[in-house]
Amino acid sequence: MSKFQIAIVGAGPAGYFAAQALQNLQTDDLQFSIDMFEKLPTPWGLVRSGVAPDHPKIKSVSKVFEKIANTDNFRLFANVELGKDVELDELTNHYDAVVLAVGSSKGKKLGIPGEDLPGSYSAAQFVPWYNGHPDFSRLNMPLDCDTAVVIGAGNVAMDVARMLSLDPTELDSTDTADPALAQLHNSKIRQVYLCARRGPEHVAFTSPELRELPKLEHTSVNIDEEEIAEALARLAALPNPDSDAKNNLEAMLAIAQGQKLKQDRSLDFHFLLTPLEIRGSDRVEEIVFTFNEVHVDSIVPTDETYSIKCGLVVSAIGYETELPLELELEKGHLKNQAGLIKDNLYVVGWAKRGPSGVIGTNKSDSSETMKYLASQLTNEKNSGDFCALLDGKGINYLTQKDWERINEFEVQAGELKGKPRVKIVDREKFLSFKNA
Ligand code: NAP
Repeated sequence: MSKFQIAIVGAGPAGYFAAQALQNLQTDDLQFSIDMFEKLPTPWGLVRSGVAPDHPKIKSVSKVFEKIANTDNFRLFANVELGKDVELDELTNHYDAVVLAVGSSKGKKLGIPGEDLPGSYSAAQFVPWYNGHPDFSRLNMPLDCDTAVVIGAGNVAMDVARMLSLDPTELDSTDTADPALAQLHNSKIRQVYLCARRGPEHVAFTSPELRELPKLEHTSVNIDEEEIAEALARLAALPNPDSDAKNNLEAMLAIAQGQKLKQDRSLDFHFLLTPLEIRGSDRVEEIVFTFNEVHVDSIVPTDETYSIKCGLVVSAIGYETELPLELELEKGHLKNQAGLIKDNLYVVGWAKRGPSGVIGTNKSDSSETMKYLASQLTNEKNSGDFCALLDGKGINYLTQKDWERINEFEVQAGELKGKPRVKIVDREKFLSFKNA
């Protein structure tokens, strides 16, 4: 019987699904012991710090993660950062194989003047802020203005625009982090514009998310009916119209034609606007766009510009992998061939293929890579217990048992307030649960 030691770096969906795939590959002759490393004090990755608080059903996949974690051959080492606490070659030398499931945490830049003004944020800051990520939870968002602009037409842009435009009382029963919830309650923002650079037929939203928008109780969601009708006509004229685009357009048409009770909060969709410049003397005051036109299925810029006065800009235009390691990046993710980076080093999830797909997409993706990994294993290294190295370095790691105490504490605190949990948002507080 062979028993291989595998390290997985990153406790998000791709990491857990990689562990599950290895567990499923086990036979009487082939066994794996899995050590999962996570730089945050908490596991679950984007399920904890990415998924919007008003989408609790999506978070129920965490039950699957806990089942994977509660097996004999699985250990969690949270609060351990690759490239800081542990070097990559310490892992690749010790383990039979190392799997990087580190995601894409860096927001892509617009690359326009004024992008670094106070009041201009990336979704890579804004989303972890409202989700209580310890590195972002104490940010003070400039919500003292009446208008915010969200750039991008993907589901992250929609999450951000929704979080900014809904009445914060709609978040009181969610696990929105307390510091963010308090700021949102004091927010003066009443008008949110979501600006896409291409036409309504090109958006990256998914239609179920669009169809949910009219359920917002205190927000008018405004989409121009004529623009959607024009986009539907353009789409119908294409030789192979995309069915996702058609579903999205139908969902947007339903919003555009819906009964509009005027609310004092508005979320308006604008299309065909490419950001040109963010202006302001010492903070964001205005964003200027180039107006585009659709020619067949691509966009061309016009000479016309369009400007919106605003105090907050959030760009949600995609993510890139960021690691303090000298590994080659390709199109924003780690260069790999079917998940193999080199030697005994593998990659799964967004770090492998870029930031695309839903949480479940990672299941088949991780499974494929783990089958390949298993096929490449030969003789076990038998290098002992990695804990000796961590303990020797004095690394203050949290285990699965520590995490279970944190989880229980948060859920109990939530029960008292009618929420799924009250998130701990400060690193020191998490560490107080170590061996408690
Ligand atoms: P995304 O779906 O790739 O959307 C990125 C958007 O940014 C696109 O509309 C893109 O427009 C736009 N963009 C890119 N560069 C731009 C630029 N320089 N200027 C203006 N716009 C620009 O990415 P995402 O929203 O970050 O989502 C990542 C993944 O997570 C997606 O697969 C998404 O579906 C998933 N997700 C799912 C949910 C959910 O299921 N509820 C929630 C959140 C995220 P172009 O098309 O013109 O390039």
